[in-house]
Amino acid sequence: MEYLSTRGCTEKYSASLAVIKGLADDGGLFVPEHIPRLEASVKDLVGKSYKEIAFEVLKLYFTDYSEAELKSCIDNAYDSKFDTELIAPLVKRGDQYFLELFHGRTIAFKDMALSILPHLLTCALAKNNIREKVIIMTATSGDTGKAALEAFADVENTKIIVFYPKGGVSRIQERQMVTQKGANTKVVGVKGNFDDCQSAVKRMFSDRELNDELARKGYRFSSANSINIGRLFPQVAYYVYAYVKMVEEGAISDGEPLNFTVPTGNFGNILAAFYAKNMGIPIGKLICASNENKVLYDFFQTGTYDKNRDFILTTSPSMDILISSNLERLIYHSLGNDASENAVLMKKLAETGRYSVDDTSKEFMKDFVGIYATEDEVRETIKYVYENCGYVIDTHTAVAAYADRKYKSKDSNVSVVVSTASPYKFMASVLGAIDAGKVSDDDFAMAEELAVLSKVDIPKAVSSLKDAAILHDTVCDVDEMKEEVLYLT
Ligand SMILES: *Cc1c(COP(=O)(O)O)cnc(C)c1O
Repeated sequence: MEYLSTRGCTEKYSASLAVIKGLADDGGLFVPEHIPRLEASVKDLVGKSYKEIAFEVLKLYFTDYSEAELKSCIDNAYDSKFDTELIAPLVKRGDQYFLELFHGRTIAFKDMALSILPHLLTCALAKNNIREKVIIMTATSGDTGKAALEAFADVENTKIIVFYPKGGVSRIQERQMVTQKGANTKVVGVKGNFDDCQSAVKRMFSDRELNDELARKGYRFSSANSINIGRLFPQVAYYVYAYVKMVEEGAISDGEPLNFTVPTGNFGNILAAFYAKNMGIPIGKLICASNENKVLYDFFQTGTYDKNRDFILTTSPSMDILISSNLERLIYHSLGNDASENAVLMKKLAETGRYSVDDTSKEFMKDFVGIYATEDEVRETIKYVYENCGYVIDTHTAVAAYADRKYKSKDSNVSVVVSTASPYKFMASVLGAIDAGKVSDDDFAMAEELAVLSKVDIPKAVSSLKDAAILHDTVCDVDEMKEEVLYLT
């Protein structure tokens, strides 16, 4: 399997090189030449572990890794870093199914892919005889940053720099990042919002001068953002896994269409579901759940993507995004894999902040349903789910749980809500929704309250923060980000 750019440079890359590069030279994203079909049937996969299913998926995308290399990456990723051997438990609470993707080290779903990325990357460097050190540069809306820092801390031959919007992430998220250990880690708050951070990072990736200067010093960039195929394709595994588990549990029969409702920001998670569907898993609708930054909802309604609007800070900050990077891959596929047409649209997006797709593209995307939840609806959903079944969900999951319930009346397919974060990561908002009297300035007092309400022990990711020293306090303007990168070298 080789990889091409969504924007037209004709050069092809192996999977391992695509992992190292992150982004194509023309600013496009790497896409596989074709979407592979799963070799194993659902029946073959019944009874298999998460790791075994992940291997079935990943071997089709990372074809220049040997079987032994890939298995070793998977074994090292999905181990006791997760607090359950199931890795991604599927639970039924009330009348809804939840796929819990928050059992990794940083209690958000980013761990699912970031646990494996450093292994895929270090293996790729060795395979390609690359001796330069790698600088992982990442913009984060809160969860990627910490998951990437944990994943790359003290990984040989790498350094990692994470930019987050100062004031645009939750208190726990910020504390998780600024207490990060590891001699090769750096965390910087940026005076701007997530899109400012992400756009600046993208510019730096394709900044020739900067890249040349790094090369002279023996470094090269790579990205841990969800645009990297080393993040995207590991996420396909849990959709296959969830389908198989639903069949195992008798919740659906083999072959029956299953909907997934995904709380969406950068469009990486739901795009993985799209790939799973196109690999042969009988997925029905892909319900794209947005918060009040409902640019994707509007896009699926109208066919026009328009980021020219106010950026709203919500209680689901990891979805506060107006430029959903991974949507570019869907657009490219919807254009019959026509990179030059896609490049025209992306140029429009860069220049005017908007573009429209035609009816053929809309038809291609008909299985995507956009639904959004307002802040009130998020609060009501958290309260409703808690009062109905004692289950406490976080704000991002609540956006999806709301969308899932809303869509149910229109479709008889069984559906699964993708649960992307532990409620312990967004305690003030979650407690505020259930019992406002329990909100306080003291995160650890809130954690105790949440433990009582949810009957789920306080995760180590939170309890360990209590005595952790602040190790990073850099704050900069958007136009100073480049200097922060150069300080690393
Ligand atoms: C990143 C994130 C999302 C959004 O996922 P995308 O792949 O960016 O669409 C949703 N919820 C949580 C908790 C996240 O961390």
